Amino acid sequence: MRRIALGLTATALTFAGCAKEAVKEEPKVTTPAPAPAAPPPAPKPTFDRLSRLDFNVRAQERFLPFFWRSDDGNKALEPAELAVLWGPQNAQRSTFVDEKGAFTQPFLDAYESMVKAADDKAQSADEQKRLGLVRLELSQGRPTLVETDLTKGTDEDRAIIKHVFAAANAIERIHGKQLGTDTMEAKDAASKTLIHRNQGPFCVAPKTEKDEACTAIAPKPKQLSGLYPAAVQADAKFCDKLAKEKNAKDLMGHFSAVVADGAGFKAVPYSEFYKADMESVATSLEAAAAAITSPGEAAFQKYLRAAATSFRTNDWEPANEAWVAMGPTNSKWYLRIAPDEVYYEPCAWKAGFAVSFARINMDSLAWQQKLEPVKADMEKALAALAGPPYKARDVKFKLPDFIDIVLNAGDARPAHGATIGQSLPNWGKVAEKGGRTVAMTNLYTDLDSQKSLESQMASLFCASLMTKATTDAKPAVMSVVLHEAAHNLGPSHEYKVKGKEDDEVFGGPLASTMEELKAQTAALYFSQWLVTKNVITQAEADAAAVRDVAWGFGHISRGMYTADNKPRNYSHLASIQMGTLTKAGVLVFKADEKAANGTDVGCFDIDFAKWKPAVDTLAKRVLMAKGKGDRKDAEAMVTEFVDGKDDWAKRRELITERWLRAPKATFVYAVK
Ligand SMILES: [Zn+2]
Repeated sequence: MRRIALGLTATALTFAGCAKEAVKEEPKVTTPAPAPAAPPPAPKPTFDRLSRLDFNVRAQERFLPFFWRSDDGNKALEPAELAVLWGPQNAQRSTFVDEKGAFTQPFLDAYESMVKAADDKAQSADEQKRLGLVRLELSQGRPTLVETDLTKGTDEDRAIIKHVFAAANAIERIHGKQLGTDTMEAKDAASKTLIHRNQGPFCVAPKTEKDEACTAIAPKPKQLSGLYPAAVQADAKFCDKLAKEKNAKDLMGHFSAVVADGAGFKAVPYSEFYKADMESVATSLEAAAAAITSPGEAAFQKYLRAAATSFRTNDWEPANEAWVAMGPTNSKWYLRIAPDEVYYEPCAWKAGFAVSFARINMDSLAWQQKLEPVKADMEKALAALAGPPYKARDVKFKLPDFIDIVLNAGDARPAHGATIGQSLPNWGKVAEKGGRTVAMTNLYTDLDSQKSLESQMASLFCASLMTKATTDAKPAVMSVVLHEAAHNLGPSHEYKVKGKEDDEVFGGPLASTMEELKAQTAALYFSQWLVTKNVITQAEADAAAVRDVAWGFGHISRGMYTADNKPRNYSHLASIQMGTLTKAGVLVFKADEKAANGTDVGCFDIDFAKWKPAVDTLAKRVLMAKGKGDRKDAEAMVTEFVDGKDDWAKRRELITERWLRAPKATFVYAVK
């Protein structure tokens, strides 16, 4: 219900890569030597026979828990460059790399099997077709590593991770049961990966989702939820039918499954329906709590114990209370393990079991602390831009907790991409008090995502602008902190002009667009402002400016409206910002110049001398519109920069085409 997009919205980076970098069809294969008369000494195997990208794609296709993180430059895989992934294989690093840091025989065997190209010739024509589709499905999600470095961690850290991962495995089983896919097993490796990645045998990627022959299991099973009796699901409108039963309120409860009961139905609480697995989660959480001996983690320990109890009682409120009591000041960990969102199931009633496990991001914490003493000045600056009737308030920062994901599991682990901002819980007293909001800061900061972002930028930026572009996470983190901080500043949602809040003044969707436009424009404004306060350098501000343009392009590429014609707030704001900067001659399109990648013709440049005055003017326009409740001007911005059919609309098409060239990210997880 409240899976939300936040400021950084790495969604900007969700689609990545350029055609040039697409995975090659065939790997480098060494020519087999002719059979010798006498066996020579075994040649030392080499690990340069697959490129890094091929290795990672092959590992995915072969259901092997490997990821080649990065290469030191010699184009050969070394044991220290190998990440062993969390997953259904339950793999241990020690199986593949010994204590001396050398590859073991099982790894050598696996590598040899990976070097050989897939051979389906022995299969029937139907099966060959199916396997081809399964690989096409997989290829549309590029394995993307989320790795947590525990090399400097404590024994306590490692114990916590071990037990939380065990709990996550049980959550995966429960969620598989909710989805009705828990007993589905594939015969071949690629199909096994598909079932794990998609949490079921069904294809979900754009090129394959509508192909009836794309399935991990042949013949393709029926898609039936595990939360309702199979028989009732034969009726396409079974949710309506259940909603009319006399015990409908029970049947529609968030924390139960529905079973047949004579002529009718009854609700069975999760704690009974999934008893064994729920007990297994509880036991693992208690083990994690018991592993905590440092006094600084008392709040986390309390949550682990409260959550364990909730998994036994099905009463989630005590766990929620312990959960909101946690924060960056009393724990370095973030964990949410609970049934939360309902989108995944056909009636959208039943909360799906999910795990988001993370560490607090210290960089963003440092930024928050830096801004705390100047927040009154920041408020004054925005009040001055807004002008009367808005008056500077006594402001408080209520910022999301910035977290670096360690593991997503269950309903929090989609086939492609990941949630990058979330506000929970959805129901109950804690929700009514505002709950807790988080922003995920480490997703899309891995090497492959950086390379993708780099090639996206290089396809749109001119060579001179590209020299100022960086894929470093720092400017993006600053931008998201400024964006989130700005939601607390200036005329916000609760601000009343002529007695009306923003929903009433602007209308719901436009009010959201204006609030997001305010926050993101303030982020551009404040990064320049911080230069005048000697908090950051001009070069850092320029790097942030370039990154914010890339952020804007990413959101523009998602399209202005959803399939059912709802405005996408972030896309709208990005188009208003970038359209305004184009009109002001800051963002300059050079139609005949080649982009930095040397192939695309037509590219964008920034006139940095004009950047600050143009951003100041835009900030004034947006703040005034919000402060005075000027709906006319808000609509004028949308009309001109979002719905216009001019050159800017054509530019947006070009941005979209180049930005969306690469496969989406499929996140995989490892602990170093
Ligand atoms: Zn926002």
